[in-house]
Amino acid sequence: MRRKHIAILGAGPAGAAAALGLLRLGYRVTVISDWRRFNAIEGTSERVLHALRTVGLRQASGTAIAAARREVYWAGHHSLRNREWLLDRQVFDRALREDLRRSGIALLEARVLTVDVAADGVCLQLDGAASLEADFVVDARGRQAPQSGEAVRGPETLSLLCRWRGPEGPAASAAESLVSGWCWLARLPGGDQYWQWTFDARHPHMPGKAELPAWCAAQRGTSRLAGEFFTVDPGEAVELRARSSTCTLAANLCDVRSIRVGDAAMAVDPLSGNGIFQSLSSALQAPAVINTLLQYPADAELAQRFHCRRVTELFYRFARLGRDFYRQATAVPEQSFWRQRQQWPDDHPSHVPVTPEQIVTDWAPVVTGDRVGRARVVITPDQPLGIWHLNGVELAPVIDALREAPWEQVVGGLPPAQRGPVAGWLQSLGFG
Ligand code: FAD
Repeated sequence: MRRKHIAILGAGPAGAAAALGLLRLGYRVTVISDWRRFNAIEGTSERVLHALRTVGLRQASGTAIAAARREVYWAGHHSLRNREWLLDRQVFDRALREDLRRSGIALLEARVLTVDVAADGVCLQLDGAASLEADFVVDARGRQAPQSGEAVRGPETLSLLCRWRGPEGPAASAAESLVSGWCWLARLPGGDQYWQWTFDARHPHMPGKAELPAWCAAQRGTSRLAGEFFTVDPGEAVELRARSSTCTLAANLCDVRSIRVGDAAMAVDPLSGNGIFQSLSSALQAPAVINTLLQYPADAELAQRFHCRRVTELFYRFARLGRDFYRQATAVPEQSFWRQRQQWPDDHPSHVPVTPEQIVTDWAPVVTGDRVGRARVVITPDQPLGIWHLNGVELAPVIDALREAPWEQVVGGLPPAQRGPVAGWLQSLGFG
């Protein structure tokens, strides 16, 4: 049988992770990507680097630089946090492509102009008038992926990225709340200095492009941390780029010939520092969803529902966590930047306390092997999509058994190595 051909648009972390997952399932994969047009530094965690290594993006993971010192001055409180890992995105993005090449994945450096999805396949128009046909398309073009009108959008937010050269020295990062928004500061050992200011995209005093460097310099002057963090003040002599930071959730997340992953599906507030993490999370579930759509059409609707619900749930979870960070800034409640973000997306708590009476077991879509199938899961107000297993133990039968038999008997009946984790989880839900 002819191997199905999958086109992946975008070679960021989401596109790269989805490509490797699909290759493992035996698909013919072509990644088509343009280069990112700006030069950013981003922060990440050991957890994300581990995930990158696990999926086969070792070169990319290896570009991270440990910042031993991470300082936070947020809403009047000063603290030192555990270390952050810094990514020079141009270096990281080149390494992602190197990982793909080493895996034997075809990589086209081109801009995708149009995507036509029909019942029998997909046709892509690339710049230079070339075209490409595929059986399925994965849109991983990040925030540049075209959005339909019905997408959910948070308060319009803009980040100005200022980069300049300074003295060499140890890597470091810092975050600070300002009256007008917040800023993130980073230094790389080679001397790259970075100040990223995030504020309301409808700021009433935003000047024209020519005045932006001076405007940024004035804002930097209001930062308590910048003076000490950067030994040399560059004034207006910075490389400056604007980048949208608005939270977005796409409306058309998945159909029978296409799927969105990463920022193209949902983009979170950079305040969370979790953009790469969330982009990997939707990309890692995509191969099983696509495999179900192409090989098990009877379960196509289930697979689409699985992807859409997971992405939407993750979007609101991150949006509420972001809102809670903004709510910590009680000293500047009158500033519209803070007021709007302290209220968006809603008032639902980020975490809902759970009592045993609220817990139910039910059938739900899950990734099982290389496809989406159904399994009995445990559903709580805090985990509405359900939890299937923990340390190899299916949890729904445990909850069902607890309705009939005492705790000692149910937990005691588990293999010794699994008792501790399952007992801990049950206690967190109010059992025992
Ligand atoms: P991307 O990494 O954006 O990759 C998309 C790729 O598609 C790019 O290579 C692009 O060139 C290509 N492309 C786009 N359009 C086309 C086209 N038409 N044709 C061909 N190719 C195309 N995340 C963190 O984890 N930590 C941070 O500190 C952090 N800071 C951030 C700061 C700001 C201001 C913003 C806006 C975001 C930040 N993020 C951060 C989020 C992070 O950048 C993204 O979540 C992550 O890169 C998304 O990965 P992706 O693969 O979905 O998309």
